[in-house]
This record gives sequence, structure tokens and C-alpha cells, in this order.
Amino acid sequence: MAYTLADVQQLDRHDPLADYRQRFSLPDGVIYLDGNSLGALPRSVRARMDEVVATQWGEGLIRSWNTHDWIDLPGRVGDRIGRLIGAGPGTVTVADSTSVNLFKALGAALRLRQDRRVILLEAGDFPTDAYIASGLAELMGKGHEVRLVAADELAAALGPEVAVLLATEVNYRTGARLEMAGLTAAAHAVGALTIWDLCHSAGAFPVDLGAADADFAVGCGYKYLNGGPGAPAFIYAAARHHAGMRQPLTGWLGHAAPFSFAADYSPAEGIARMRAGTPPILSMQALDAALDAFEGVDLRAVKAKADRLFDLFTGEVAGLGLGLATPTDPGRRGTQVSLRHPEAYAVMQALIGRGVVGDFREPDILRFGLTPLYLRFEDVWNAARVLCEIIATSAWDRPEFRRRAKVV
Ligand SMILES: *Cc1c(COP(=O)(O)O)cnc(C)c1O
Repeated sequence: MAYTLADVQQLDRHDPLADYRQRFSLPDGVIYLDGNSLGALPRSVRARMDEVVATQWGEGLIRSWNTHDWIDLPGRVGDRIGRLIGAGPGTVTVADSTSVNLFKALGAALRLRQDRRVILLEAGDFPTDAYIASGLAELMGKGHEVRLVAADELAAALGPEVAVLLATEVNYRTGARLEMAGLTAAAHAVGALTIWDLCHSAGAFPVDLGAADADFAVGCGYKYLNGGPGAPAFIYAAARHHAGMRQPLTGWLGHAAPFSFAADYSPAEGIARMRAGTPPILSMQALDAALDAFEGVDLRAVKAKADRLFDLFTGEVAGLGLGLATPTDPGRRGTQVSLRHPEAYAVMQALIGRGVVGDFREPDILRFGLTPLYLRFEDVWNAARVLCEIIATSAWDRPEFRRRAKVV
């Protein structure tokens, strides 16, 4: 162990982000290193939920669609997320889940590239993206091929047959980060479109969809954005595509005039055509309130602190000899640490038993999310100490730690 308690307390005292921890409600006795899976609870959420349930729903009833402007909430929250991902006003809407948004974005992108048949993805990344691509390809019945290649072969795999590069910026398992601007330029050079999955990017570090010239993007509300379990997701489309894009889930709330109840579908102007049905107002209000935690936050400072937490954690556990699955170059990773251990599942259960909450990913990954708005240097240092102790004493080696739960 290279650092002492006094050292890390000193780091916390000089941390410019230290005060943001007040914006979160965190349980005692827990060091939470799973904000990459389910973000912690921002304090602003509880009061908003009380108000929305008691007043907007309870008293306003259906009138609140107008009086509290529920109807435009997807766009308003979308614009707030847009500010975190380099997307201009009117280019992001909140809707559905990431999986459903992938379906809509890919459907729209394939329509814009009707002469091409290949959907290119990174092999070994979060499977819902490839599942959705395969399902859509099958439904279309036009012989689309879902082609999976290793991350470092994506650029070389781009050719005139590729319709869409559907890439997750940060790999959920390793935390390795793709170069968004470079890959987008390479895709455009062969005439392909890009869809970026920002599930492990949005709210974690600065993303600039505009500067990268990305075509479409999707991402999660419940991970780094802290919107709560099952929070609705977001979808982005570059303004240049708005007029020409059509997505396949042509529900009434993506219609130009939903309350005309017209017989024929005609898409709304702009990003609103990416909507399908009635938005989940309660969840969306929670996500909106959660975004208050990002007010005034500089995501460059968030990434800089995440990098220091990464160095602290990996330095403290270096002596354990566990493989580091995450790139050491800060520019090539997101804000998680992934370590390999052949009994990673049991080790993680032992950690959780000691109040250090991360998660396990197949086959051998211990995953720790670094969320600088609510994590202190002292927390990460303590987590490293507990991990060292569990490995040194083989405290993980018990039958109850091997029992698999439904959700890991
Ligand atoms: C978490 C995650 C998802 C989640 O999809 P849902 O439809 O919200 O369940 C999708 N893609 C990636 C890369 C993820 O990490």
C-alpha cells in the first residue's frame, strides 16, 4: 500500500469536486463502486417525486399534460442531456430504453443507406446492440449481415458495403474506449453512417457528438446519469438527418399532430419523430431531477478525478498480481477499473459482503465504476484495502459466495 489514510484525506481536502457529494443520498457503511450499472440517488429526486406524485398527478390529474407541460418533457430532458454529450438543442429526446432506441436509430440509418447490407459492430461488446441489429435485419428480410469484428479491426473493416457502424464508445467489460471522431470520419469516408452507444460515456466524461460529426447516438438514463432503476434512455440524431430520417416504430406520439388522430402517419418535425408512445412521466421526472446533480459540473474535471481515482485504486492493488483489463492510457478508457480473477464472482460477493459494491462480468471480471461526483479518495483507498485483505485471506472462498443470483 503506497498511500496512508492521511494522504488520501489530504487528497479529499484539496478535491475541487468534493462538495458535489452533498448532492447525493448515500447509505452508511457502503462504498459504492457500481454507478456504471445503477447510479446513486441524487437528493433532488425525492422532493421532485413527492411533488410530481402529490401535486402534478394527484391534483392536476390529466390537466398536467398541459399545465406542467408533461408533453414536452422528453425534449426538455433531452436538451439537458444534450449539454453533457455535445449535442445541440433539439437533437436529443428521451424515450424508451436503450435497446428500443437502438432499433429506431438503426432502422432510420438503414433507410438512409438502402443500397448497403452490412451492419458493423465490435465483437464482445454489450450484446443487446448485436441482438437488436440481428432482429431488425431478420425483420427487414433484405439480407442484411451483422458483422462483428475486434475493436482494433473496426476501421479496417469499413468498406463500401457497410451501411452502419454501430459502436459502443466504452466497452462495458474492459472499459476500453474507442476513438469516436476518428472512427466516425473513417465511416463517413466510405459512405457509412455511425450510431454511437453512449451507455458508459454520458455523464462519465466529456462527449462531443457535434465535434465528432456523429450521425446517431443512444444511451442510458440509469447509469452515470443517475436517473434511477429503469430510467428512460435517450436518442440523438444530427440535425442534418432530421428531415430525411424515418424510424420504424411509427407510434402516435412521433406523429406531426398526435391529437389530430389522423388516419395516416406523418412524422413530427425534428428529433420528436424518434418518439413512439406515451412517455413514462414519473421516471422521466426522476431523470430530470437527477440531472440537477450535473448543474455547474465540468465533465473534464470529473474525468480528471476519475483518472486519479483509477491510479490510486490500481496502485494500491498492484501487489495482488490481478490482470488489469482496462487500458492504462487515460485517453483510451472510460471511468471504470476492470480486474481479472478466475473466481471473480465469489470475490465480488465477498466484497459486497464487506460493503464494497462493484459487480461481476463474465467470465472473470471484477468491475468497479469510478463516479467522482460522489466518491472520495478515501472511499477508493478503503475499497482497495478490503480487496487486498479478501484476496490475502482467501475470504472469498466460501460456498455462499459462489451461489449465483439472478442479477449479477
Ligand atoms: C447498459 C447498456 C445497455 C442497456 O440497454 P437497456 O435497453 O437500457 O437495458 C445497452 N447498451 C450498452 C452498451 C449498455 O452498457
